[in-house]
Amino acid sequence: METLDFDVVILGSGIAGMTSAIHAELASGERLRIALVSKVHAMRSHSVSAEGGISGVLYPKENKDSASLHGYDTVKGSDYLADQDAVQMLAESAPKEIKFFERLGVPWNREENGRINERPFGGMSVPRTAFAADKTGFFMMRALYDEITLHKGIEIFHEHIVTALLVHRGRFVGLHAIRLRDGRHFLFRAKSCVIATGGFARIYGFATTAYASTGDGIALAYRAGLPLKDMEFVQFHPTGLIPSGILITEAARGEGAYLRNSRGERFMERYAKSKMELAPRDIVARAIMSEIEAGRGLRNKESGLEYVHLDLTHLDSKRIDEKLPMVRDLTTKMLHIDPSKDLIPIRPASHFTMGGIHTNLYGDEMLGPSGKVADGIWAVGECACVSVHGANRLGSNSLSQCAVWGRIVGTSVARHARGAWKVASDTAGRLSAEEEDRIAGMVDGKGSEDPYEIMREMQATLDRNLYVYKTVAGMNRAIKDLKKLRSRYVDIYIKDKGDTYNTNLRDAIEIGNMLELAGVVAECAAARKESRGSHYVLEYPERNDERYLKHTIAQKGIRGTRIGYIPVRIGMWKPEKRVY
Ligand SMILES: Cc1cc2nc3c(=O)[nH]c(=O)nc-3n(C[C@H](O)[C@H](O)[C@H](O)COP(=O)(O)OP(=O)(O)OC[C@H]3O[C@@H](n4cnc5c(N)ncnc54)[C@H](O)[C@@H]3O)c2cc1C
Repeated sequence: METLDFDVVILGSGIAGMTSAIHAELASGERLRIALVSKVHAMRSHSVSAEGGISGVLYPKENKDSASLHGYDTVKGSDYLADQDAVQMLAESAPKEIKFFERLGVPWNREENGRINERPFGGMSVPRTAFAADKTGFFMMRALYDEITLHKGIEIFHEHIVTALLVHRGRFVGLHAIRLRDGRHFLFRAKSCVIATGGFARIYGFATTAYASTGDGIALAYRAGLPLKDMEFVQFHPTGLIPSGILITEAARGEGAYLRNSRGERFMERYAKSKMELAPRDIVARAIMSEIEAGRGLRNKESGLEYVHLDLTHLDSKRIDEKLPMVRDLTTKMLHIDPSKDLIPIRPASHFTMGGIHTNLYGDEMLGPSGKVADGIWAVGECACVSVHGANRLGSNSLSQCAVWGRIVGTSVARHARGAWKVASDTAGRLSAEEEDRIAGMVDGKGSEDPYEIMREMQATLDRNLYVYKTVAGMNRAIKDLKKLRSRYVDIYIKDKGDTYNTNLRDAIEIGNMLELAGVVAECAAARKESRGSHYVLEYPERNDERYLKHTIAQKGIRGTRIGYIPVRIGMWKPEKRVY
């Protein structure tokens, strides 16, 4: 094992991680040594696939918009579970960050008068989503990557998978990583750490996210004893392409696409009369599944999946090419259809995870529900629950969250690293050596269970029991299945015993992380006996503010997950019935 010393280590190089790195570097006057560690090449981080855009009020007068309206939409969209001070921070700071990215070189789509073009998005009262065609994430990532190469203080470690977050007495001491190229083990020692490892939507089989979205950082934090928040809230995007689950961006509906059932009806009229296809995602996903369950869906012969149609045929073909080139590309390549002539088969797919590492308003990781922060650890981006999305995220609010808290966390971590003392080296070294032994044990193990089979069974039980509509029996079934799968996982075998790109070992590590988080999701879901946002339970169809206007806090205990609750921070928007 080799030890590398830095001031700051940032785990994850998506939009959240790279933005934090740049702001840490700028805030420190370029005096820090920063490591940016990513299990994939930085430019292959999931963020490159973000499509539709980033929210922020750029033209309040012209669009009759305000930060307060953005805040209201977000809180209502969250089914009142978002912390309202965090939402205010998001809405007030997002415009500045869109302009920051403009200076970094993002080619925002523009109107003829030169203003940045903003498109409508689900649950937003007015158009406030800036975009670069339907490749927004790619352009933001490219701009960040280009900028980082100009900063000598930031060193990128591509293709290093971190397997343990080393915490001693509530304080960060290091990260343990394996370099995929040659299987070498590294200890990253630093004064401060930012976790920016993205979400875990891949615990489901039918998902829109990258295969790398396995929630590693959240699982590492959980195992290190840190609390997670609101893990039961998983977002299903209404338009996952049949049969792969690849995303057809919400921007398609933002540009005017319709949803139609097997009879050709625009069925959203029954579920959200005023917003129609641009209702928030939880409502549209439920509408699609209600149509399918009422027998008004279609069935894909190859996969057996039932679906409805997304209809772009009334849109000008030129507009599809200009604003939705990826939709044309995907449908042509994957299904050999022309979106300006043919209907697109879709159904809800697991897409985004609202829950994650419990942080305070400034991205500091918490030690427990009490309010005490973990020394030297921050979390940012989709892996963090700050919480701005509550029970249901509005589309385009994630990129603004990554950008806004990227600056906040980057600046704080720089301040911390400049003031903090280095932790005594022997603790980190000892913990890291133990981790190296654990991994060696995994590779040498003589188990009989195939980790890929365990993953398939985990995804199948989640797809069946923890999807858009849940039942009490289904959630209990999932808890039981996942418990059995976890005990089988202890007995896995790693077929590849080599050091060079041992993707078999990497996959097994990721599967272990997903399995751990899937169990937490199932238990938190079963404990919340109400319906709110993305969490809908047939036996409890109503929201119950009296008992559950609370964040769920989950911590690893000796006998399993310990679940508790903390209050939601309500501000000027009092909870109301959510009608669209
Ligand atoms: C198809 C799709 C389209 C989307 N479009 C939009 C959109 O238009 N607007 C919007 O607001 N949101 C969108 N979202 C959501 C948004 O893309 C994500 O929430 C956001 O990009 C997350 O960024 P992040 O930086 O937090 O994490 P990610 O981009 O997921 O990056 C995670 C990083 O962590 C690293 N990592 C993870 N585990 C480890 C480990 N063990 N060791 C080392 N490194 C590790 C990865 O290598 C990666 O670098 C979309 C989501 C999907 C699935």
